Amino acid sequence: MGKPPGATHPAPVREETRRWIEADKRHAWHPFTPQQAWTDADHEPLVIVRGEGPWLWDSEGRRYLDGNSSIWTNIHGHAHPAINRAITDQLGEIAHSSYLGFANPRASELAERLCGFFPDGTLERVFFSDDGSTAIEVAMKMSLQCRMQSGEPERHRFAAFADGYHGDTMGAAALGGVSRFFERFRRFGPEVDFVESIDQLDPDGLNAVVIEPLIQGVNEMRPWPEGMLAELRAWCDRHGVLLILDEVMTGFGRTGTMFACQREQVIPDFLCLAKGLSGGYLPLAATLTTGRIYDAFLGPPENAFYYGHSFTANSTACAAALASLDLFGAERTLERLPAKVDHLKNLLEGLASDRDEVVEVRQCGLVAGIELREGRGAEVCLRARDHGLLTRPIRDTVVLMPPLCVGHDELDRAVRAIAAAF
Ligand SMILES: *Cc1c(COP(=O)(O)O)cnc(C)c1O
Repeated sequence: MGKPPGATHPAPVREETRRWIEADKRHAWHPFTPQQAWTDADHEPLVIVRGEGPWLWDSEGRRYLDGNSSIWTNIHGHAHPAINRAITDQLGEIAHSSYLGFANPRASELAERLCGFFPDGTLERVFFSDDGSTAIEVAMKMSLQCRMQSGEPERHRFAAFADGYHGDTMGAAALGGVSRFFERFRRFGPEVDFVESIDQLDPDGLNAVVIEPLIQGVNEMRPWPEGMLAELRAWCDRHGVLLILDEVMTGFGRTGTMFACQREQVIPDFLCLAKGLSGGYLPLAATLTTGRIYDAFLGPPENAFYYGHSFTANSTACAAALASLDLFGAERTLERLPAKVDHLKNLLEGLASDRDEVVEVRQCGLVAGIELREGRGAEVCLRARDHGLLTRPIRDTVVLMPPLCVGHDELDRAVRAIAAAF
């Protein structure tokens, strides 16, 4: 990972910034982070204290465009009054109550709204959890138990795509194809075939296939060929294999439609949602499935799905999610997207033309990856900070995926910051 980001900034001047960094370096432990370098004396991490729309402020008062939607979560911008109001209104009622043995209004409403995106008789059940990883865990366990209760216990293998990413809990990690993250835990997990294309799939004993539809995120923002998803659905139907779509990153408009699967009219057996579900405000995930899967869990109590988390269907998170879905209507988020997507496309074409450090530009909706010459990714992202853009590279691919509320002028600024960083 090399030198940690942040080193080009001047040392913090405010006393409280220094205190926060000191407490962090002494006691906190960051995800995916080589802590040796993080805690280096000359590493000054940014402390993000405030957000508004697509903008973030650090504790030294510097403003940045949120170039990766706070790790792919934010949809309508930070501190949106409508989402903030929904959350505070909910807090006035109750923050959280148990979903084990009780229903709650916001979860009922949200389950109904989510199923409403799909034709009747298709995805009609919602199982709530907290993160993308848990949404995947639920799909894995549900699919396996469904096989056991449908007289097909021998179908227990999973198939996943090389270089895919599905989260970090043990089950979800087992489906991950990025070897530097997952290889050392492989032998503790379920049996998974890794394939590069549909024709490598072996249906024998196969329970389910998992895929990030339209575009692989962690694999440096790599889009699939057009039509591939529909072809995979047809293959699964032919061989009685379940299809798990991981829309944790692609869901909620990122790729241009509300869900990526809608682009190829595909309905999966399991649809996993998280990140943008609450507008990116609170941890919340959902696994949607069909009546056919659900029915296998009816009958005697031992058929039940014995799974859940303390904060399943948290009312505050569900209230944020409902407000976020309302904003898609009120702000015509999807209708206004194509112009932004085109604008970004033009800007990125301009950026790539006659710049030999750009190897390739990849874009799907408002998600872009700018692949740079080897060794340039971290450095360019670091320098872009000095020009008011905050993002992270994946190896040498600079990720640009601002919140969907971003304006054309803000897209200009983002791409200008990357150009300046060169
Ligand atoms: C982020 C992500 C996950 C994991 O979600 P968490 O909320 O971080 O657990 C799973 N799949 C995809 C495609 C993701 O982008």
